[in-house]
Amino acid sequence: MRTLVWFRSDLRCQDNLALHYATDVSERGVVGLFVFCPKQWQDHDWGNPKVGFLHRNVQALSEALEAYNIPLLIRTCETFQDTPDIVLDVARSLECDKVVFNKEYEINERRRDKAAVEALAEAGIAYQGFDDSVLLEPGSVQKKEGGDYSVFTPYKKTWIQVLNERGGPPKLVEPKKQNKKVCDAEELPETLDGYDLSDDRDDLWVAGEAHALERLEKFAAQRIHKYDDCRDIPSVNGTSTISPYLALGVVSPRQCLAAAVENADATWPELALGNDGVSVWISELIWREFYRHLLVACPRLSMDQPFQEKTKELVWRNNEEEFQAWCDGETGYPIIDAAIKQLNQTGWMHNRLRMIVAMFLTKQLLVDWRWGERYFMQRLVDGDLAANNGGWQWSASTGTDAAPYFRIFNPWSQGKRFDGKGEFIRRFLPELSDVPASALHDPDKLAQKKPSSYPDPVCDHKTARERALQAFKSL
Ligand SMILES: Cc1cc2nc3c(=O)[nH]c(=O)nc-3n(C[C@H](O)[C@H](O)[C@H](O)COP(=O)(O)OP(=O)(O)OC[C@H]3O[C@@H](n4cnc5c(N)ncnc54)[C@H](O)[C@@H]3O)c2cc1C
Repeated sequence: MRTLVWFRSDLRCQDNLALHYATDVSERGVVGLFVFCPKQWQDHDWGNPKVGFLHRNVQALSEALEAYNIPLLIRTCETFQDTPDIVLDVARSLECDKVVFNKEYEINERRRDKAAVEALAEAGIAYQGFDDSVLLEPGSVQKKEGGDYSVFTPYKKTWIQVLNERGGPPKLVEPKKQNKKVCDAEELPETLDGYDLSDDRDDLWVAGEAHALERLEKFAAQRIHKYDDCRDIPSVNGTSTISPYLALGVVSPRQCLAAAVENADATWPELALGNDGVSVWISELIWREFYRHLLVACPRLSMDQPFQEKTKELVWRNNEEEFQAWCDGETGYPIIDAAIKQLNQTGWMHNRLRMIVAMFLTKQLLVDWRWGERYFMQRLVDGDLAANNGGWQWSASTGTDAAPYFRIFNPWSQGKRFDGKGEFIRRFLPELSDVPASALHDPDKLAQKKPSSYPDPVCDHKTARERALQAFKSL
């Protein structure tokens, strides 16, 4: 057998289920394929940071595959519509008996895969998809009475139970080196239509699975035990920053769970149920699965629709100038502006800040959550439809298990609570470096102490809060 491995968001060799399978069964060799789809990615709002990082990771994958005698072939097309023919054509021309891939759960990706496997079946070529980007496949974590969970806590309990029934954290798999290369690897395109590949923080986000594993292992050995205390403090390096690697599959969720378990004081499954750093971190991995499972359970989430259908009626203000001030980090709220500058400069934003800025945009400014979701996607290096949509709909109170509509963060007190000394704010807003910490979290004091170059607040928190409450109450 000769197998074609169609890589997508699984850009690694280690613990890659489709690749492992292919190297196990193919006595006539394994070939890899990656298809660049720049027009489609633009339609999905993927920005330069994510696509630049992806491009570098495909290069790193190609080099890593060489060690296994597996060439990576490269194709470029406009949209997913063209992909099935490309896959079929490559499989045919290399006389592959089977095409394997790791499943993607977003609606357009699932439609593309359906078309691809139909074309393969018609041509008499076998195919197989693997649930590699999650620890448990969508549909496997169900309520006792049947149906998908829409609330996280009971979902998490069942998730742990199902994993236990399957023997607990899975063993990691490794591909086998092939005896002979079927053909040579191909060069990546140097440019991609619509993208500026140099607009990418390659100093911050080093490509390749070797680096991703090092990042993960460092976090698990040195910082995971303090995660419960540090994870909400943006000035501290308290989280793993593994999200860009997980989003593109440069590291697998199984590798993440294994790193956590290996460094835990308790044993599985008890460790997953506790409140210490390791347990809380594992909970975040389960949140990731929750949102991925929801994409399949509720396809409208991939189509710009809210989970709570009645919130379709909400009347957003959508003031373009205010939205632009938010995008530029010029709202006059130091914690919001510093957070947005972090996003614009690094392609990543701390989770606590993602919640604060998302709630500010959707509640205080009453801007449609889809505007913010899109802006994040364009700027994030870890942009991931399931987590981004989940986070935005949580913040906007339109989602599943979302914040209740009357829970509206006060950005001044959030800033004081999570960046009391203003260390994070000053790092990203050097113009406020001489402003005392107390003024960074108090609008009246800030008005007296700030330099004239720093904007006045775009809205008054109390008035804006009342406006949001009225808008939601009228639903
Ligand atoms: C408005 C909003 C938008 C978001 N957009 C994205 C996005 O596009 N891509 C993305 O990966 N995450 C997103 N998140 C979730 C979360 O903010 C990031 O995963 C996290 O900040 C990444 O940093 P980390 O790797 O250090 O996380 P850690 O705290 O170390 O967590 C480990 C991993 O768990 C997963 N995770 C953590 N928190 C969440 C969560 N709330 N929901 C789902 N998965 C989670 C991530 O894969 C993360 O890498 C968003 C959250 C909000 C509130």
